[in-house]
Amino acid sequence: MKPYDLIICGGGMVGAALAAALGNSPLRIAVIDLHKPKQRWPKASWGIRTCAITRASQHILENIGAWQYMALRRIHPYSDMHVWDSTGSGAVHFSAADVGEPNLGHIVENRVIQAALLKRLKELSNVDIICPARISALAWGDELVTVTLENGTKLSASLLVGADGRDSWVRNQAGIATRGWEYDQTAVITVVKTARHHRDTAWQRFTPEGPVAFLPLEEGYSSVVWSVDPRHAEVLLSLDDATFMVELGQAFEHALGEITELFERGAFPLRLQHAVSYVKPRLALVGDAAHAIHPLAGQGVNLGLADAASLAEVIFNALEEKKDIGSFMVLRHYERWRKSDNIVMMAAMDGFKRLFGSRAAPLRWGRNIGLTLTNILPPVKKTLIHHAMGVSGHLPRLARGIPCRQGSSAR
Ligand SMILES: Cc1cc2nc3c(=O)[nH]c(=O)nc-3n(C[C@H](O)[C@H](O)[C@H](O)COP(=O)(O)OP(=O)(O)OC[C@H]3O[C@@H](n4cnc5c(N)ncnc54)[C@H](O)[C@@H]3O)c2cc1C
Repeated sequence: MKPYDLIICGGGMVGAALAAALGNSPLRIAVIDLHKPKQRWPKASWGIRTCAITRASQHILENIGAWQYMALRRIHPYSDMHVWDSTGSGAVHFSAADVGEPNLGHIVENRVIQAALLKRLKELSNVDIICPARISALAWGDELVTVTLENGTKLSASLLVGADGRDSWVRNQAGIATRGWEYDQTAVITVVKTARHHRDTAWQRFTPEGPVAFLPLEEGYSSVVWSVDPRHAEVLLSLDDATFMVELGQAFEHALGEITELFERGAFPLRLQHAVSYVKPRLALVGDAAHAIHPLAGQGVNLGLADAASLAEVIFNALEEKKDIGSFMVLRHYERWRKSDNIVMMAAMDGFKRLFGSRAAPLRWGRNIGLTLTNILPPVKKTLIHHAMGVSGHLPRLARGIPCRQGSSAR
C-alpha cells in the first residue's frame, strides 16, 4: 500500500493545476490519468482545442508556476471582443482600453496548458504522476480512501479528488447524481486562417442555430467554435475542405473575409451538467467533473481553475488549523464557496444560449436593443468586462495574484 495524503484522479488542466497549487505543501500527492499529455508536436501544427483564459486564471497559472512555460510555447492575448446578432442590427464591442487593461485575456491551445502543467509537476518533489493508469476499485474508510489500480497497485489517501472530466468515473463511483440537459447542439471546432487579420479580437456571431466564434491566435490564425444542430454537425464534418470553408465563411458573414486555410475538424456534443454535491467525506469534485457548461463565453476551464485554487486554499487553511483535509466539515467550505459561483455562471450561460437561440420576434427585438444599449452604456460594459475577465466575486487568493502556502493564513 503506497500512502499519500491526496490522490487526484484526472490530470487534465484542472486536476494538474490543483496538484501544482499544492506543490509547496507538505502533502504527498498522486495524480492518476488514463493518458500521458503530449510534450512535443510539429511546430507548424495547431491543437484545435483551445481555451480563452481569463485574467483570474492567468493569475492562478502564474502563481502555480505554469504560465511561464505556457508563454515559452504559444499564448495569444486578445484586446477586443465583438459580438453581434445575425437576426438584427444589435452589436456590442468590448475593448481592454475600456477598463485600462493591456488585454482581456489569452487564447491558448489546451495542449500548451497541459504540457506546461506537466513540466511544472515534474519539478515538484511531493507530486507523483501515475499515467497511463486506470483505477479499478475504490474503498471508502473512516480515515482513508483506498484506490486500487488495474495493475493491482494499491494507494491510500485522506482525500480523493475527482478531476476526471464531465463523464467522471469517480463521481459515478461515489454515487453523486447530476442535473442538467443535452443542448441538442454540437460544437464543431477547427483552426483557420482568414483573408483579413483578426486584429486581436475575439469575434462571435449569434445565429438561431447557435453561436459561431473566431478566437484570435498567432500569425493571423483563428480558433473556431461553431455550435450547430447535431445533424448539421455531421454534415459539416463530412464536407470536403473547400466546401466547409465556404459554409463556415457564410455562417460568419465573412467578417474577416474569405477563409484561406483550414486545419483538422473536431466535434463536441454540448450539455449542461451539474453535480448535485461536490463533496462527500474523503471526496471532492473539481472542474468538469462537477460542472459542464456551454462554451459560448469560454468559461468552463476558468471555473475549473477557480475550483482548484479554492480547494487548495481550503486545504492550506485546514493544514494550518491541523484539521483532517478529507473531513466533510473541511470540504463543505469548498463546496459552499464554489457551488454558488458556478451556479451563477451556469445560469447566465444557459440564459444567453436560450435568449440568442430564440426565433420569437419579441426576444429578437429585446436582445438587439440589449446589445445596442450595452454598447453605449460604459458602466454596464465595464461590469460585463470585469465578469468576463473573472476579476469580480469572491476570488481565491491565487486568482488575486497572492501566493498560497502554509504559514500564510489564507483567511
Ligand atoms: C468546444 C469547446 C470549447 C471550449 N472553450 C473553452 C474556453 O474558451 N474557455 C474555457 O474556460 N473553457 C472552454 N471549454 C471547456 C473546457 O474545455 C473544459 O471546462 C475543461 O477541459 C475541463 O477541464 P477538466 O480538467 O476539468 O476536465 P478534462 O479536460 O475533461 O480532463 C479530464 C482528465 O481526466 C482524465 N480521465 C478521465 N477519466 C479518467 C479515469 N477514469 N481515470 C483517470 N483519468 C481519467 C482524462 O484523460 C483527462 O486528462 C470548452 C469546451 C469545449 C467542448
